[in-house]
Amino acid sequence: MASMISTDPSFSATARLLPFTRFSNGVVSLRRFVGPLHVGLLNPTFPRTLSLNSIRSSRFITAAMATEQSAKVIDGKSVAKQIREEISAEVLKMKDAIGVVPGLAVILVGDRKDSATYVRNKKKACESVGINSFEVHLPEDASEQEVLKSISDFNDDPSVHGILVQLPLPSHMDEQNILNAVTIEKDVDGFHPLNIGRLAMRGREPLFVPCTPKGCIELLHRYGVDIKGKRAVVIGRSNIVGMPAALLLQREDATVSIVHSRTKNPEEITRQADIIISAVGQPNMVRGSWIKPGAVVIDVGINPVEDASSPRGYRLVGDVCYEEACKIAAAVTPVPGGVGPMTIAMLLSNTLSSAKRTHNIK
Ligand code: NAP
Repeated sequence: MASMISTDPSFSATARLLPFTRFSNGVVSLRRFVGPLHVGLLNPTFPRTLSLNSIRSSRFITAAMATEQSAKVIDGKSVAKQIREEISAEVLKMKDAIGVVPGLAVILVGDRKDSATYVRNKKKACESVGINSFEVHLPEDASEQEVLKSISDFNDDPSVHGILVQLPLPSHMDEQNILNAVTIEKDVDGFHPLNIGRLAMRGREPLFVPCTPKGCIELLHRYGVDIKGKRAVVIGRSNIVGMPAALLLQREDATVSIVHSRTKNPEEITRQADIIISAVGQPNMVRGSWIKPGAVVIDVGINPVEDASSPRGYRLVGDVCYEEACKIAAAVTPVPGGVGPMTIAMLLSNTLSSAKRTHNIK
C-alpha cells in the first residue's frame, strides 16, 4: 500500500460492500442495511426491495433535496464501524469453514513517527476484525533490494493476502519500482498500474480499488445517493484519491469533471455538480458559493490548522468549509469522522476479499 497523510490516509478496496444490487428492471435490492443510525436518511421501516422511484423519495439524499434545512451529516465513523462488524463476521465464517484467516502484511521503512502510527493503527484494525497482520520494519538506510526482498517473500507467502508498503519511502528508493513489485493479486491498495488500468477500462474489473476513493463511493451508496446520470466534480487528480475517484464515479455512470490546480474557474465548474468529491489538501478551499444547493459533498481533505484552544495546538479541517456547506448542501461528510475512517475499513475489506478470491469463496 501506499499511505501518506494525517489520519491515516492509507489507501486501499473489497468484494463490493455496496448495499444495493441493481437489476435491469429498475428494482434495487438492499444487500446490507446501514440502519437508522444515519441521521434518518434511511427509514428503519425501509422495505427490502425498492423501485428506483421510491429510492428517489425523501428517505434518501438526492440532489433535489430541499435545502432550507441544514445538510445531513454523512457519518463515516458509524458506517466504517458497521463495515468492520460485517468483516469480522465474515472472517469468522471463513475460519470456521476452511480454517483460513486473512492476512495483511505491512512494510515500513524508516522511523517517521506518523508512518509508525499509521502502521500501528492498521495492525490494531486488523486485530479488531480477526485479520492476521505481519510487519517488516526496515531501517531508514535499508537498500531498495531489501524492500524488494520483503515484498517478494510476502508475495510467495500463502498466509498473506494483502501487502502494503507504507509511504512515503526514503528518498533514495524508487517508489514506483517498489510498488510495482507487489503482486497484483495482493495489491490491496489498488495502486498497481494494472489495477488502475483495469479501473479505467470499460468491461475490465480491477482486483482492488484504492481504499479512500472506494470509501467515498461506499458512503454515497450506503446513504442511497443516486449517482447514475448525475454531474459529479472531483477536485484533485492524485493517483491515490482524485483520479481513481473520478474513474469510479464514471463507472457508476456519473458525468464527471475534474478540477485541478490549473483549472480556470474552479468555483463555477464545481457549482454545477450534484456530487462533489474534494481531495486537494487546502483547508476550507471549497466555500458555500462553490456548492449547488442540494449537492452531496464528500470531503477527503485532512488539513491541520492552528488552534490555540486545542491541546495539540492544531485541529483538523477538510478542504470544504463545513459550516458553509452545511447551509447549502443536502449532505456533507465531516472532518474528522467522514472519509477518514472509511479508508482503513476498505483496506480490511480488500484483504478479506483477496483471501476469499484466493480460496474461491463467494
Ligand atoms: P495530492 O497528491 O497533493 O493531490 C492534490 C490534488 O489537488 C492535485 O491533483 C492538485 O492539482 C490539486 N490541487 C492543489 N491545489 C489546488 C487548488 N488550489 N485548486 C484545485 N486543485 C488543487 O493530495 P492527495 O494525496 O490526493 O490528498 C488530498 C487531500 O486528501 C489531503 O488533505 C490528504 O491529507 C487527504 N487524504 C485523506 C484521506 C482519507 O483517508 N481521508 C486519504 C488520502 C488523502 P495538480 O494535479 O494540478 O497539482
